[in-house]
Amino acid sequence: MSTNQTEAFVVHLYDYSETSRIIQFLTAQRGKMSCIAKGVRRKNNPWTYSLDRLNRVEIFYTWKSTREVQTLIEVSLIDSYPELKKHIKKQVLASLILETAFSMTETEQRIQKTYNQVCNAFEQISSPDIYNEFAIFLTCWHLWQILVHNGIEPQLHICVRCGKPIEKAVHFSLQGGVVCNNCKPDRTLNNDEVRCLQILQHLDNPLNFPFNHTSFLPLFETKILSFLCSFITYHLGHPLKSYNVFHELNQLKIQGFNYETKD
Ligand SMILES: [Zn+2]
Repeated sequence: MSTNQTEAFVVHLYDYSETSRIIQFLTAQRGKMSCIAKGVRRKNNPWTYSLDRLNRVEIFYTWKSTREVQTLIEVSLIDSYPELKKHIKKQVLASLILETAFSMTETEQRIQKTYNQVCNAFEQISSPDIYNEFAIFLTCWHLWQILVHNGIEPQLHICVRCGKPIEKAVHFSLQGGVVCNNCKPDRTLNNDEVRCLQILQHLDNPLNFPFNHTSFLPLFETKILSFLCSFITYHLGHPLKSYNVFHELNQLKIQGFNYETKD
């Protein structure tokens, strides 16, 4: 048994006993990790504030490879993203990114690139300068990068079934990308959707969104986010809970509820 230290995002918390909680973390060095936080449910426990969902923390823990749940020794807060948590929609978008990264990661897997991606995404989305519509575009861009790190981003130029080069993408398979006219698609894409996916594929820095293309921005909310979530769901084999919440929020908005801020 050895003492280790790492940076981590708090993904899930489960009450374990009257005084303890099991925390699931996403870490750069060990991928998914579960730790028991003893005493954290006691009144005035100093860890309670640090161990909140979506927080970025530094943790110290004892590691034993034969155990599924490690023991947390100390935790210190790096960022609780208060700006993010003030806005429900931004909070749900950040959850979606963290849930996707976590679901695609194994235990004991080094995922430095994916971990950094989540850090950048959280920083960008939580900025007060970023309005909702742009936050959705940023979410799509970061989800695309996480797919790239996992080697499963949608292929846009070659038929994923027969390998034939494709000049004009119309048909799509959730299995991996565009398909030619002779192969069987799951759905079709219109020109605007293809253009949005190409923007995600080619843009190095999402803050440099091509502003001659701002007419495309609303499409990321109405089409592309749900498209990417279907693609991710297909590859994970289970739905993304955060996307369901996002969808429900949009339904509430249609019904006239105001949920935008909660302070
Ligand atoms: Zn084909």
